[in-house]
This record gives sequence, structure tokens and C-alpha cells, in this order.
Amino acid sequence: MKEFAYRRARDVRDALLAGDGGARYLGGGTNLVDLMKCGVEAPDKLVDVRFLPLAGIREAPDGGLVIGATATNSDTAAHPEVRRRYPALSQAVLAGASGQLRNMATVGGNLLQRTRCGYFADPSQPCNKRLPGSGCPAIAGEHHNHAVLGRSRHCAATHPSDLAVALAAYDAVVRYETLDGPARSR
Ligand SMILES: Cc1cc2nc3c(=O)[nH]c(=O)nc-3n(C[C@H](O)[C@H](O)[C@H](O)COP(=O)(O)OP(=O)(O)OC[C@H]3O[C@@H](n4cnc5c(N)ncnc54)[C@H](O)[C@@H]3O)c2cc1C
Ligand code: SF4
Repeated sequence: MKEFAYRRARDVRDALLAGDGGARYLGGGTNLVDLMKCGVEAPDKLVDVRFLPLAGIREAPDGGLVIGATATNSDTAAHPEVRRRYPALSQAVLAGASGQLRNMATVGGNLLQRTRCGYFADPSQPCNKRLPGSGCPAIAGEHHNHAVLGRSRHCAATHPSDLAVALAAYDAVVRYETLDGPARSR
């Protein structure tokens, strides 16, 4: 593995300032560290955001729930208000991975995890998503679990997050911070 620096972010602004081109944010590490081990990711620096005070799940002013970026998948699935008001969200999280992974994995990391296409995770293979222009062996090769709808001639991978599917079904809004201020998207 390539050597890299490690920095524990003090606050959100510190994380934003430290998150330059060669850096990657570290949540639970269950996807990022795997990709570092197989050589797909080789950051110069890991900016650890897991200890920022963003793990809360609280009432939103409009009556919804705000789920923090560093809330673990386990805590999200088990939260009484998530289970009562958004049962499909809880069920979707519990349907994925394993207990150990869900205990480490964060909501932010789950949404931003990379595709689980086997060619993407194998640097000996071409892959347009990893190396644009190199080709997509999945289209003629192994594409079990790949996209049925919405694929292009460049990539047939799906987004792997079960959590994201439930959030989309509930019409959730993702709020995030940038150096220019807060932003949001669906
Ligand atoms: C064996 C296995 C089975 C799995 N099965 C499923 C499944 O069935 N369903 C499913 O949905 N998922 C599944 N997963 C994926 C798992 O849910 C993700 O690995 C996990 O949710 C990622 O969260 P993390 O906090 O560990 O992210 P990390 O690995 O820490 O980060 C993932 C990405 O998100 C970025 N990131 C993390 N946090 C932030 C933040 N706060 N702000 C900005 N960027 C951030 C990182 O830089 C990185 O690019 C599986 C994983 C494994 C290993
Ligand atoms: S479907 Fe093709 S381009 Fe997309 S991640 Fe897999 S190999 Fe790469």
C-alpha cells in the first residue's frame, strides 16, 4: 500500500480545508480501505471525519428527521423514529452487508461508496469508471447485478447503496457543506 498521511478533522471547516485533491475522507473505512488494499484508491492523505459531532439523528423543523453523516448504519436502522416513520429505510440498511460492517459504516460513506463492479475493483482490468476511455468489459462480460435500466455504452454499473434507494423513495434531501457554504441535492 502506498504511504499516506492521516489527519483527524477538528471540525467541518478543518475537514473541508484538508480535503484537497489527493485526500480522501475516511468514514468507517469499509469501502475506502478495501479499495486502497486492492490498489484502486491511493490517496496521499486520509482526513478522518468519523469523530466529528455529526452522528446524531434528530427532528427536522419541517417534521422530518435529520440523519447525521457519521451516524452508523446500525444506529440509523435501529433508531426508533426511523423504524416508526421510515420503516423501509431501516429494512434497507438491515438487508445489506453484515452486523460488523453496519457497526462501522456511516451514512455519508454509504451514500458515497464506490460501485461493487468486479472489474472496477481489479486494476488489472480495463474500466471506464476507474480509467476513462479504457473500456467496459462488463457489457460483454460478467454483468450479473448490473443495471437493467439506465446503463450507457460506457458503464453498466449500479450505485450499490441500499440506503440510497430507500432515501430516494422517501424523497430525502442530502445536505452537505462546501467551502462556499451549505448545499443540498436530492
Ligand atoms: C462485504 C460487504 C458487503 C456489503 N454489502 C452491502 C449491501 O448489501 N448494501 C449496501 O448498501 N452496502 C453494502 N456494503 C457497502 C457498505 O455499506 C459500505 O462499505 C459502507 O456503507 C461505507 O461506509 P463507510 O463509512 O465505511 O465509508 P468509507 O469506506 O469510509 O468511505 C466511502 C466513501 O465515502 C467517502 N466519505 C465517507 N464519509 C464521508 C463524509 N462524511 N463526507 C464526504 N465523503 C465521505 C470516502 O471518502 C469514500 O470515498 C457492503 C460492504 C462490504 C465490504
Ligand atoms: S460497468 Fe464497466 S465501466 Fe462500469 S464500473 Fe464496471 S467495468 Fe467499469
